[in-house]
Amino acid sequence: MTTPATATAVALAASVRAGERSAVEVVEEHLARIAARESELHAFNHLMAGDARAAAARVDERVAAGEGLPLAGVPVALKDNLCTRGVPTTCSSRILEGWRPPYDATVVSRLQRAGAVVVGKTNLDEFAMGSSTENSAFGPTRNPHDPSRVPGGSSGGSAAAVAAGFASLALGSDTGGSIRQPAALCGVVGMKPTYGGVSRYGLIAFASSLDQVGPFASTVEDAAVLLEAIGGHDPRDSTSIPGGLPGVVDGLAAGVEGVRVGVARELIDGCDTDVRARVDAAAAALADAGAKVEDASLPSAVHGLSAYYLIAPAEASSNLARYDGVRYGLRVDGDDITEMYTRTRAAGFGAEVKRRIMLGTYALSAGYYDAYYGQAQRVRTLIIRDFERAYESFDVLLGATAPTVAFPFGAKSENPLSMYLSDVFTIPSNLAGHPAISVPYGTGADELPVGVQVLAPALGEPVLFRVAAALERSLT
Ligand code: GLN
Repeated sequence: MTTPATATAVALAASVRAGERSAVEVVEEHLARIAARESELHAFNHLMAGDARAAAARVDERVAAGEGLPLAGVPVALKDNLCTRGVPTTCSSRILEGWRPPYDATVVSRLQRAGAVVVGKTNLDEFAMGSSTENSAFGPTRNPHDPSRVPGGSSGGSAAAVAAGFASLALGSDTGGSIRQPAALCGVVGMKPTYGGVSRYGLIAFASSLDQVGPFASTVEDAAVLLEAIGGHDPRDSTSIPGGLPGVVDGLAAGVEGVRVGVARELIDGCDTDVRARVDAAAAALADAGAKVEDASLPSAVHGLSAYYLIAPAEASSNLARYDGVRYGLRVDGDDITEMYTRTRAAGFGAEVKRRIMLGTYALSAGYYDAYYGQAQRVRTLIIRDFERAYESFDVLLGATAPTVAFPFGAKSENPLSMYLSDVFTIPSNLAGHPAISVPYGTGADELPVGVQVLAPALGEPVLFRVAAALERSLT
């Protein structure tokens, strides 16, 4: 079953601002859609129907008082690793059971300021570690296009929520591809901003040098509006870029005449032929629209996956040390404090999280540090240099987002390496700190959605969105 036709976020906000529809009415419509299909899809860990109704009523008051809210009354779903004051925030882990954050993430306050209405917290792979949402302690999310398949991950709940019309917009986090890959598998737009472009304050850390919060939407314009609402400098995130991100909405219609597009071999090699066909079609469409399309290469990108699976677990092993049974959520008592720590962590973390903590601890241990973590950081530098060289000749790069369309449940869960390979095309941008977007571009095998990926250098969001918008237009 495909996505129900819904108004875009931009259109919804305009009708609420104009007084043609109330925010309360809009939220009721979305809650009804959730009620009809959530038990089948399980996009949410926590539905916030009561809070959403109250928030919508406040939005209607603000509109009546003449406030010009860019996201007036737009229903938004939040990945459940974003802190929401007083509302359970679990990272889909037992270890955070019962924890309610005492503050809102910066992106959450910014959404509220813009007039958006939060409808719920979405399911994810535990601590955002995974590519299918099968690692959630609360059971998987199903793909709205085919409920026998995964929605991708780790932000699978957010991608499914937008694809199913449960929310017009959603936020996810992307450490190695967790926004773009599920967006591709669910047929929606998903974007990872330049590192430091969107505040990480209140995003529960996985791998801090890679993590970014970013938008899910059903159109490129909606994603652009959402990015502008959440982006910008935040003094509470020490890695936040002082000048913020450049604007993206104004240039959307500018077209791609003369834009230099490099089709990156390493961002296609090994993908399924149905996916490959859609990337070729996207390259041809950009050329038709006036872009200069040529082949490009990022030779070191083939080592990105290996570098990522040292750097990300290393940072995770340190970030997750805080879940000790004292400060957050779950506690399993023991005879002494060491036993309490051990029992809590043994009971609270799932298998994949434990695997990452062990890998990371090993990679950072004395005697191995330089051979593993140090080597991975050197590979990261080589990848950054490859991008710099490519961007001397190109404005953007084009590739596949994921190697395959949505796969059936269980297809990769027994073999971590095959699951890790889902992110082979998305990881290089995280290692470099660059922006990238996945745009739905038709269907592949079994009529399932395929996403193509556009990449740009740091702060290249304007050209990234221009190209994405041109791709979207080429389909209509
Ligand atoms: N799937 C990758 C992983 O398992 C990326 C996850 C993410 O971006 N959060 O680490």
